[in-house]
Amino acid sequence: MVRRSLGVWVALVCVVTLLAAGPRPAAGQGGSAADWTADFHPAMLPAYEGDMKFYSAAPRYAIALNIAPGEDETLVSGQQTVLYTNSLSQPLDTIVFRLYPNLNSYGAQMSVGEITTDGGAAIKPALDDTRTVLTVTLPAALQPGAQITLTMPFAITIANDSRDLYGQFGVLGGILALPNAYPVLSVYEPGKGWWQEIDHPRGDAVFSETAFYDVRVTAPADLILAASGSEIDLTANDDGTLTHRFVAPLMRDFSLSASARYVTLTGEQDGVLIRLLYDPAPDGALAATQHGMQIARDALRIFNEVFGPYPFAELDIAQTPNSAGGLEYPGLIVLNGDVWAADTDYFTFLIVHEVAHQWWYSLVGNDQIRHPWIDEAMAQYSVAQYILATEGQDAYDAALESFRTQYELFAETAGDNPIGLPVSAYPDQETYWALIYQKGPAFFAMLEDRYGHDAMISSLRTLFATHRYGIATPESVQSTFEQTLGVDLDAAFAEWVGGFPVG
Ligand SMILES: [Zn+2]
Repeated sequence: MVRRSLGVWVALVCVVTLLAAGPRPAAGQGGSAADWTADFHPAMLPAYEGDMKFYSAAPRYAIALNIAPGEDETLVSGQQTVLYTNSLSQPLDTIVFRLYPNLNSYGAQMSVGEITTDGGAAIKPALDDTRTVLTVTLPAALQPGAQITLTMPFAITIANDSRDLYGQFGVLGGILALPNAYPVLSVYEPGKGWWQEIDHPRGDAVFSETAFYDVRVTAPADLILAASGSEIDLTANDDGTLTHRFVAPLMRDFSLSASARYVTLTGEQDGVLIRLLYDPAPDGALAATQHGMQIARDALRIFNEVFGPYPFAELDIAQTPNSAGGLEYPGLIVLNGDVWAADTDYFTFLIVHEVAHQWWYSLVGNDQIRHPWIDEAMAQYSVAQYILATEGQDAYDAALESFRTQYELFAETAGDNPIGLPVSAYPDQETYWALIYQKGPAFFAMLEDRYGHDAMISSLRTLFATHRYGIATPESVQSTFEQTLGVDLDAAFAEWVGGFPVG
């Protein structure tokens, strides 16, 4: 059964990767230094609220978003204030934000106005030719440990029912899919500078650091919203709109989906509120959603046990018309609505794979363009752990064997390559799927053959414990595995992952 269902999943070649208001103080800035995390507590499970105080230097966003759907276009406008702390050991002359909606794969038009600092300076930011890299030249170098607050207005114009790449971003069939609908801080990599990659012909687009989000979304009252984090306040406005306030602490991204047709099914697992937002119109929609809820609960429970705890109070899973199958964001997963309604094994696979991304991508981050294997191989290997827990050893062995044989079959006919290449180095979707989603977990299966299942799980538990809220690199994955397994993995990583400078 499992072999067959994995075959189905493989055959489908999913890409599962897969009010305008005045300036506000960034969240917590108004309180004493001791209680700046207070507003964020509702979005963390009580046992993990204490995690926040270790990340006082993480960026803090306060965002006001206004969503104005029109007949042909939807306008998303707003203003954000970011409290940025220089956590590096060197001064910074610039800070870079990414305008992801301007990517060809997102297909919208985004602009940012004049930026003001808490020191009163007004800065006209520079936009590169791709219109996705916004560079803010600071009035004076920001010294290590120093903070600056930047406030910026922005606007995004979306042509309704215009589809680009996976339909990841936009307004399709009345469903708003709005990941990264604000200027997103990029990542400064010492020795390389600010991350500015745009080349993602497939796969995911974003590389970002863990941050704190306090987001007020003003939208027509009939829109039902799903978002990263937890909604902590709802206000009715005189013009008939509603303002929803979300807090999303320790998340590397803020994503939002909305539809007037969404109906919400809620559930709970290990203290986490799970919300599934779906279109009730298709026959069997509720039954499919109830099935999806059970899968999501099982996946959350199993990954909590196997890898370590999901620390957030909520996880949302919402339908969108994306053609990737599923897409992962911190605290929010979006799944294709037709796949959802059909409720086949592929639906099961998508939920489990995307829930696994909450551990691998959301909590443990990575550069999804340069090192897509890290989160995808781990998400796939995690699907196998779900199969082990729900179907037993034989099914697990068959799942790992399926990864190996699918990869080997591809490599024999189409040629082999390491898994450690950037997304753009894999020439087409089939190659990307075979090498990242099949060979990737086959690499872990090989290590499991050598060192045992318990040792591999121990390695991933250690990786999760040491990189949670942080960023994993090929080097740090290798060194974590080497320390946990007590072996030298230079040869294995060179053979499977490919060459990268090991420090
Ligand atoms: Zn994935």
